[in-house]
Amino acid sequence: MVKAITITYFWITILIIAPSSILATPINSLNVIAGIQNNGESEAHLYVGKEYYEKGLYEKALEAFLLAYQIESKSKNSENYVQTVISLGQTQFKLNDYETSNQHYKELLDYWGKKGEPAIKSKIMVDMGINHRILGNSEQSYTLLLDALQLQGSIGDNEGKLKSLYQLGTLFFYQKNYPEALNYYQKTHDLAKEINIQRSIYSSLAAIGSVYDRQENLEMASKFGLEAYEMAKQMDYAQGMAYSAHNLGSNFLSQKQYFKALEFFEEALAIKRKQGDKWGQVGTIRAMSALYNKIGESEKAITTIQSALEIAQEIGAKNRILEAYYYMAEAYKSAGKAEDGYKFLNKYIQLNDSVMNQQTISQMKEIKTDYEIQQKEAQIELLQKENEIDTLNTSIAISTALFLLILSLLLGRQIYSQKKSNRLLEEKNREISNANEKIDHQNKALESSNEELQQFAYVASHDLKEPLRMIGSYTSLIKRRYVTNLDPTAHEFMDFVVDGVTRMENLLNDLLTYSRVNSRELVLKNIDTKITMAIVLNNLQEAIKRQDATVNINYDKMPEIKASKTQINQLFQNLISNAIKFRGPHSPVINIDCQKNNDQYIFSIKDNGIGINPENQQKIFEMFRRLHTNEEFEGTGIGLATCKKIVEKHKGKIWVESTVGEGSSFFFSIPIQKDASQELKNGILIESISN
Ligand code: ADP
Repeated sequence: MVKAITITYFWITILIIAPSSILATPINSLNVIAGIQNNGESEAHLYVGKEYYEKGLYEKALEAFLLAYQIESKSKNSENYVQTVISLGQTQFKLNDYETSNQHYKELLDYWGKKGEPAIKSKIMVDMGINHRILGNSEQSYTLLLDALQLQGSIGDNEGKLKSLYQLGTLFFYQKNYPEALNYYQKTHDLAKEINIQRSIYSSLAAIGSVYDRQENLEMASKFGLEAYEMAKQMDYAQGMAYSAHNLGSNFLSQKQYFKALEFFEEALAIKRKQGDKWGQVGTIRAMSALYNKIGESEKAITTIQSALEIAQEIGAKNRILEAYYYMAEAYKSAGKAEDGYKFLNKYIQLNDSVMNQQTISQMKEIKTDYEIQQKEAQIELLQKENEIDTLNTSIAISTALFLLILSLLLGRQIYSQKKSNRLLEEKNREISNANEKIDHQNKALESSNEELQQFAYVASHDLKEPLRMIGSYTSLIKRRYVTNLDPTAHEFMDFVVDGVTRMENLLNDLLTYSRVNSRELVLKNIDTKITMAIVLNNLQEAIKRQDATVNINYDKMPEIKASKTQINQLFQNLISNAIKFRGPHSPVINIDCQKNNDQYIFSIKDNGIGINPENQQKIFEMFRRLHTNEEFEGTGIGLATCKKIVEKHKGKIWVESTVGEGSSFFFSIPIQKDASQELKNGILIESISN
């Protein structure tokens, strides 16, 4: 990257006058080198830093650049200042200190303000975007990359555009939005071919292979992966070979060819170590841990993923730490250490929420719309300019004899172009007004449902719950105070009152849950149902213990789905707690499974409880429908109605199959969303390659 920086007049001078032993000289003593003083001093540091940088000695390069910075930051008025700050940003990146790298870049953007050479400025924005992505700041990364792309578009910097497009693909890749990632990688590939940049053709091929791998399209993944690997070899491109080897390892892992997979992973790791690429190392080590897990070497899997986690923490890469937590949990679970596994699962859940929250994704969408509207405006402007130029050229060329004819042609053309640009304008206006209408509509719906919800919550919590609590507490007080004054029947009546209060409280709570499902807008996220199971079982652990229940979960079949996290937790919790509650004479045994059926997942919760009569199997999903008295089984009759509402909100179905005295199986379906990743598989993450 440093190569891209123009070598100034001064550098050339130094190259000529500097003694060949300059590199062996300690940096601190450089300021006394004869002939390089005052003005020349910072150039000397820059020169030495650059040499160290190119040799991969980044610590030393940093020292030299910092010395140059001490001098240049005082005047801030030379080209050397810009070069020094850029070099600092790049070196900190190489040293995996993304935060500091961005601070340097930011200093430069602030220094330039609206000015600054667009090609260099956009390059810095891309580098900042990469840093933000690694740090988990998706929104900032997205904005910077789009701005860079626009700037590069305006000056026709195709090579710059390649990088922005590639990085946008990578950002979406890490957001698990594979269709969008594929779209940007394909754009990168097309442009790279058009302008014939070998290394970018390679990167985009490798990236497309990785997306296919994530989408479980092994055939396409191998095709693109091999093509990329061969190309990297041909170019003798070490980093490319490392990533391609890694991706091929991943393919072999998916095909259960473990020996081959390990061979490729080891090749990849060796190159990444040699290059000091820690981010990349974490990916490969994590993949190796998954492999050990698959072949039953769980202890080895734990120590391996442990070392990946340490490196990820060292470089502060949130996405990497997140993956490591997940695989730590998996490795511990396979090793039979459920408690440790659970600990990491919790860490994963917490961090996952902060890195991939819905708000970030929706903000990204908003920025994207803004960007597309801006693009359209630019198109319209361009069209109008073209139109003017055409008009001018044509009018010079026409002869007087054809004047009238051509004039009418011109007019026709003018009208056509005008119409075209009007159409675009109209289209854009329509888009904006449609979007506005939709937002208005949504706002109104949101407002009225919010209002309803607020009213309901108010009535429920104040008008009903509060006096209820008063009845409960005063009844208990009367019982305690007048213990000797009351006869046994009065005591019994008091107990009825307290019992009634508790039941009514339960009823109100269940009603609130139902009303929330009904009125809240669905926020869909990728959810790993393995994690859902862990959360629900934790919530129900008391009931499980009390009833001596056994819950068997077919973890291998538990997929990743796109759904509302709280609602899916509620759904499983209601169904499993019913399976425990409606038990027969034997201890409850509950089996939870999932099957993939065309474009939907069908989950099942099977119990060995009392069962349900065929004529009631539909009715139980109605509100307040109960088949038993409260003395037999406690309840409110709202649980299954809530389940039905949740499933229907997710465009699925719920039903039960049951034999009285033998048990019941509750089933529900959830459609498979195309862009939801199938499972958090052992596959490989794409790596960023900044050319
Ligand atoms: P609640 O559990 O509060 O009574 P639900 O809406 O959850 O209300 O269930 C409605 C009725 O369906 C229950 O009262 C019970 O009769 C029946 N039911 C639900 N789950 C089961 C089950 N696993 N086995 C047998 N009966 C069940």
